[in-house]
Amino acid sequence: MSSQVALVKCLSYESKEVESSLKKAVDLLGGITVFIRPQSRVLLKPNLLMAKEPEYAITTHPEVIRACIRLLKGIDCRVVVGDGPSVWGNQIENIDEVYERSGTKAVCAEEGAELVKFENRRWRGKFPLTTWLDQCDYLLNLAKFKTHGFTVLSGAIKNNFGLVPGTFKTELHKTYASPQDFAAMLVDVYQQAKPVLNIIDAVVSLEGDGPGTSGKPRKTNRLLVSADAIALDSILALMMSLRPEDILTTKEAAKRGLGSAEPSTIEILGDSLAVEEGFILPAASLLDRKLAQQVLKLIRGFIRYYPYLEPDKCITCAACVANCPHKAIRLKGKGIIFDYQKCVSCFCCQEVCPQAAIKLKKSLLAKLAGL
Ligand code: SF4
Ligand code: SF4
Repeated sequence: MSSQVALVKCLSYESKEVESSLKKAVDLLGGITVFIRPQSRVLLKPNLLMAKEPEYAITTHPEVIRACIRLLKGIDCRVVVGDGPSVWGNQIENIDEVYERSGTKAVCAEEGAELVKFENRRWRGKFPLTTWLDQCDYLLNLAKFKTHGFTVLSGAIKNNFGLVPGTFKTELHKTYASPQDFAAMLVDVYQQAKPVLNIIDAVVSLEGDGPGTSGKPRKTNRLLVSADAIALDSILALMMSLRPEDILTTKEAAKRGLGSAEPSTIEILGDSLAVEEGFILPAASLLDRKLAQQVLKLIRGFIRYYPYLEPDKCITCAACVANCPHKAIRLKGKGIIFDYQKCVSCFCCQEVCPQAAIKLKKSLLAKLAGL
């Protein structure tokens, strides 16, 4: 299988620059009508992980959403925008605040796109996915290039997980607790709702302990577009100085024949691929890279990263408590405490913490092993 990925420079989030870079990238692939029929209804799915402003680089930038809406309006499409982040249930944040603070609400109002919530769902295979998939002709995946403590990369395939509304995601974290099982589940979701086109906002990306407030914004100055999410994530892996197969979702999807993960079969159009020198990977992912797999199997139980609290930053919002799939966190006084007997190191708590109050520490054996 061979695939094309368009890679175009975009040095800022200035409206005109983003619009022309996106158009250039899509034109390199033959133009938007190769993928989307004029006058159709399109569901645009950005990454809106939490209620943070665009400068945090946690959410797809509103100017990238705007450029995408305009591209679709140019062929008379009706555009629906929505995401299902883990902010429902008993958390203080809600989806309105996510839409507001991420800049998505304003951009949709200005551009005449319909901003929706994923309140209704229909089972597709093992997953309750938003019914907006049924009400739209196409799904367009508008992901952000970010690191992820559990999956290493949050790119095109991972972004589809937001089609599973709110708190059911926590259940899936519980059921698919190992990185391998979780990756296979993400690919299952991807197969249930395959986007017609995938766009990656990599103008400012997130390195380090992403995908939330513990990650660090980093300028990477690019937009990437492809119909093949696997090829796209493979290119992101190469930009991070990893091999595509280091990303378990990419490895699994390639094994199922869903796309290209072998670099020699991926044609890059536009700018050439450049590795991001010194790109900081998430701390927890380094375990697998430094130890041989056989050794890892034997000692994984003892070599671990654990979450811990930086108490001064905690506002006791309880987002981590609500999102821990193993009920390993409870509020106590002006902070939280972890039950490490129950913790499986999935880092959902770190992902949803709005204050970057949860950090990771190594187990003693990990320290002794110099990891
Ligand atoms: S405490 Fe955090 S890392 Fe541990 S299981 Fe709960 S959410 Fe996952
Ligand atoms: S650690 Fe973060 S998510 Fe948990 S209660 Fe404190 S501020 Fe909220």
